[in-house]
Amino acid sequence: MQEFDVVIIGGGPIGIACGLEAKKRGLSYIIIEKGPIVNSLFNYPINMQFFSSSEKLEIDGIPFISKEAKPKRNEALEYYRRIVTSNQLDIHLFEKVITVEKENDIFQVNTDKDQYKAKNVVVATGFYDLPNRINVPGEDLPKVSHYYKDPHFYASQKLAVIGASNSAIDAALECWRKGAEVSLIIRGPEVGPRVKYWVRPDIINRIEEGSIKAYYNSTVKEITPREIIIDTPEGETSLENDFVLALTGYMPNFTFLERLGIALSDDEKRLPSYDPETMETNVPGLFLAGVICGGMETHKWFIENSRIHAPIIMDAITHKEASV
Ligand code: FAD
Repeated sequence: MQEFDVVIIGGGPIGIACGLEAKKRGLSYIIIEKGPIVNSLFNYPINMQFFSSSEKLEIDGIPFISKEAKPKRNEALEYYRRIVTSNQLDIHLFEKVITVEKENDIFQVNTDKDQYKAKNVVVATGFYDLPNRINVPGEDLPKVSHYYKDPHFYASQKLAVIGASNSAIDAALECWRKGAEVSLIIRGPEVGPRVKYWVRPDIINRIEEGSIKAYYNSTVKEITPREIIIDTPEGETSLENDFVLALTGYMPNFTFLERLGIALSDDEKRLPSYDPETMETNVPGLFLAGVICGGMETHKWFIENSRIHAPIIMDAITHKEASV
């Protein structure tokens, strides 16, 4: 079985940044990614525009040129793909890490295809795989989705969008513009304060003019094949409904982290334990990188502020190797 200085789990922007830094330092490494290159970005809505400007999404100082200041999903796919191919990064795609075991300071990484040994492991698995479920009857009906892709699908349909943050608001506006009849169900009293500053006035105007019907301070009680039943301040309301987009955020795979032995805080934030100076967790040799570091606080880390994890980790590993 091949042994590496470092195995990186996750081929998102930050996993790729880790691979680049490992390569630059002459460490033997592989990146293992369960989907295509930057799988999370690939699964984003097709028309999605980042809130970050392109230079903030750059890794290793490699210029990211986009048509507008804030790039679109397709431009980001192009950028990260070109980094992987032109740097000939060693990335195993469509290979999922199932377990990681540690014996005598060496990790064994078991995937659905192979096994690898590693002195160090970096977990850069992000948070886009597990949606925050709303836990109501009917959530598993085929008309309900926690991921939004393309507005065309919802044209001439009665669509309920649940949520008040960027994903929900982008979906509500796009689908309304393609002819869906959109109801927006918002748990709090307003559109989320972190909604992109150039999108917020658009949605508020659409709500005020009555084009999109917003239900504030409202929660979903049940989804049936033809209706959605919501609790509003005025009482229970039933809306005719064809499709539901429950865009209520995502969370890291805590079970995976716990199985690796990573300690999580007891509170609702479930913050993983790591040393911010090195990004090493409570398990020696096991590092965390990217947006997974925020636990349930998924708005804390982005590409722009977590890309720094890559050089921090590879410096720590290099120093460790040098001092052995
Ligand atoms: P990810 O990109 O999620 O990468 C993790 C990778 O790990 C995935 O490719 C996944 O397939 C893989 N993986 C998971 N489990 C396994 C396993 N067991 N085995 C193998 N592979 C596995 N940030 C910004 O800075 N600017 C923005 O404008 C911005 N916009 C965003 C818009 C949306 C809709 C969302 C959801 C997030 C946005 N973010 C943005 C936040 C953040 O930057 C992204 O979530 C980014 O993808 C995080 O990078 P990452 O490498 O940490 O994780």
